[in-house]
Amino acid sequence: MTAPARRAPSVARQELSVVCLRVQGMAEIATEPSGPEAATATAVRRPALSPSRASDFKQCPLLYRFRAVDRLPELPTKAQLRGTLVHSVLERLFALPQPDRLPERAKELLAPAWEELSGERPEWAELFAGQEPGQVADWLGGAEKLLDSYFALEDPRRLQPEACELHVEIELDSGVRLRGYVDRLDVAPTGEIRVVDYKTGAAPREIGEAKAMFQMKFYAVVLWRLRGVVPRQLKLMYLTDGQSLAYTPDEAELRRFERTLEAIWQAILRAGKTGDFRPNPGRLCDWCAHQSLCPSFGGTPPEYPGWPEPDPGVETLLDRAD
Ligand code: SF4
Repeated sequence: MTAPARRAPSVARQELSVVCLRVQGMAEIATEPSGPEAATATAVRRPALSPSRASDFKQCPLLYRFRAVDRLPELPTKAQLRGTLVHSVLERLFALPQPDRLPERAKELLAPAWEELSGERPEWAELFAGQEPGQVADWLGGAEKLLDSYFALEDPRRLQPEACELHVEIELDSGVRLRGYVDRLDVAPTGEIRVVDYKTGAAPREIGEAKAMFQMKFYAVVLWRLRGVVPRQLKLMYLTDGQSLAYTPDEAELRRFERTLEAIWQAILRAGKTGDFRPNPGRLCDWCAHQSLCPSFGGTPPEYPGWPEPDPGVETLLDRAD
């Protein structure tokens, strides 16, 4: 699918964030202010459900609480950081003129992208403190492999996405607000929409696939409600094993999924009032950073701090690069 001319590249990782507004049935892109105005804008952000946090609650309510309510810090793994870096490089790649989107150029973007990310989050750079330069080079080499995998799946010179790292947000008729970031949005001249998500995670694919499809359907609902068009394709690109998965949703399915999201949000609000977020142990516990606080593993959660206002469950860069 080839899309019409790209809008301005996203700068979501910088001072501006992109917001879709419903204008004449099409999502237009506006920028929020930065600096002190941005602080005010942040303060009035309304509570919203993000795909990552909805997925957390579905997987384990206590995990949701740890992340969205207690907001316990989680040190990323190097694999997560590498995924974040590759997402950043792919976003930069699509900001280049089409003929320049070559594998060598993408690899050249790794170092400046890492410099920017580690400058924004010095604690991420700390993960490499005291390591031999060879180990850092290995880590970067792993990012190059993910980029090779990407180029084996598609030729970005033939694509002109409408947006990368697009912040989308909508309030459903029920009052539930949905918010998230789409890795890439392709729109064909016929108006058909394709939602693309890059997967770089280290978790086994069979575990992550249902979670990934949940996330994609979440975006499909938001885009359908924003634009009045059911996305033609939801495409997952697995860069670790060089495979992709495409799915075509239909309106009835998205309608049902919308009700599921509303039910999840209501369940979160009920748990939020009482603090009753129960653990739900399963295979994904192996990837949980909070096992030591989890009663299912002999731990004790911190005292419930109360429901956070105004906005529980903000997505992080790491969530988006999962
Ligand atoms: S260890 Fe498992 S059950 Fe406990 S909080 Fe984490 S995901 Fe939930």
